[in-house]
Amino acid sequence: MMTFVRRSMILHIPHSSDFIPPGMRKQFLLSETELSTELNLLTDKFTDELFAFEGGTFVRFPISRLIVDVERFESDADEAMSNVGMGVIYTRTTDGKQLKHPMSRRQKNDLIDRYYIPHHQKLLSEVKQELAMNGYAVIVDCHSFPNQPLPCDTDQSEPRPHFCIGTDSFHTPTALVDLAMDCLKKTGYTVKINEPYSGTLVPMEHFKKETMIISIMIEINRSLYMDEETGEKNDQFYLIQAQIENLLREIARYEV
Ligand SMILES: [Zn+2]
Repeated sequence: MMTFVRRSMILHIPHSSDFIPPGMRKQFLLSETELSTELNLLTDKFTDELFAFEGGTFVRFPISRLIVDVERFESDADEAMSNVGMGVIYTRTTDGKQLKHPMSRRQKNDLIDRYYIPHHQKLLSEVKQELAMNGYAVIVDCHSFPNQPLPCDTDQSEPRPHFCIGTDSFHTPTALVDLAMDCLKKTGYTVKINEPYSGTLVPMEHFKKETMIISIMIEINRSLYMDEETGEKNDQFYLIQAQIENLLREIARYEV
């Protein structure tokens, strides 16, 4: 049977890497154990494999969010998480301790120029290419989250769902949310919308302006596919990967 798969799905994977570039380790005030704990809590480990959809376009950030978080707004003034030291450049650990040596404005701007801006340019150029080619672009913002809330999380409610779908009132059509929700519920999962995490990424140039840019965030509870203590895949991993592939296939079929 022939299955139509849209070429134009862009998979944005901002948090899968735990790589700290050599030379940047010295920014941190943490011991090796403390750093590895933070990386364990904050890395959306294996999301690059889980969301590896054939035919999709990947925009994956290759270094850890502990250096620069490309999912945040560039300016702290726009970014609510900067209130807990987790804006574009983190200054605090998940439990509120000082994470790094104090940085000058210039040091921060250097990091933004080196990592944040090129990443967003890449995403924007993929989006523009899709728009030019097909008249629309679909972005799937791919994440995972810990089963227990982190101290820095705004939403502390438990139990957490198996999946969280993040939406934007302008860029996420209700029909697409329903489709994703139905697909996950059919597989037997609990799903919440914008809880415990909300929103979905859209390039700033088009944010709230271009209706033909569709974006949806899919967040998966890490306890489904890995051992959160050891950081290893569990024996459900490949089953979950297949279920996500099925979900992405459904999203790819969505008629814009
Ligand atoms: Zn994430």
